[in-house]
Amino acid sequence: QKRYLIGGNWKANGTLAQTAGIVKILNQGGAIPLEAEVVIAPPAHLLGYVKDNLRPDVAVSAQNSALTTKPGAFTGELPAVLLKDFGLNWVIVGHSERREGFGGPGETDDVVATKTKVAVDAGLHVMACVGEKLEQREAGKTTEVVLSQLNAIASKLAREDWSKVVIAYEPVWAIGTGKVATPEQAQEVHESIRAFVKEKVGAQQAALLRIIYGGSVKGSSAPGLILKPDIDGFLVGGASLTSDFVTIIRAVK
Ligand code: 13P
Repeated sequence: QKRYLIGGNWKANGTLAQTAGIVKILNQGGAIPLEAEVVIAPPAHLLGYVKDNLRPDVAVSAQNSALTTKPGAFTGELPAVLLKDFGLNWVIVGHSERREGFGGPGETDDVVATKTKVAVDAGLHVMACVGEKLEQREAGKTTEVVLSQLNAIASKLAREDWSKVVIAYEPVWAIGTGKVATPEQAQEVHESIRAFVKEKVGAQQAALLRIIYGGSVKGSSAPGLILKPDIDGFLVGGASLTSDFVTIIRAVK
């Protein structure tokens, strides 16, 4: 039985005081439904603190990992093998904010795909993000954009790697805007992602693949989205910094 995946992406947020508060909310948030697997991605400097203080039934993820397969002279980078060695089992790869770059060059489809493969080979589970920008949606290019991002990832993975991969569909226009995709909009894209994986990889991998939605998910919008057959969970940004995240976790029951 496939479990829903609920990811909390804190992005570049989390003073020590705020972090202690969020960890407390989660630790005191009551039982997590058996149907749900919960993964929190704090910024890199807090990985150790969160891992040591968070309830053991919630996993901890990095928000990015390096292209390099080995540790070494890569100042500022986080090699996947070191994350694994540190006791982490998850990483987010290819978030649209990283694809965009932060004033510098962003990550290309090819970089995202290679990082996904490197992380899987290091033994990590990967939430690989795809999603179109507003102008691409308005030009009718949503499926084309998402499937070409997905194709880049699929072309680097072996069939058995897919058991470690989750695809996060995060339409860029929905991220941090308060404009959540409708359940129908999300379902349409999730369905095309699953169909692509079925055709390109295999029916079993497609059936077991978790495709999660991200973009302004709140406790109030989660129940409608999760009813859709191809929505297997969420990647939550802003709301994962608040007690609303507990409401979102409960929505998957
Ligand atoms: P928001 O939930 O803040 O829109 O962010 C979504 C996201 O980017 C999660 O990775």
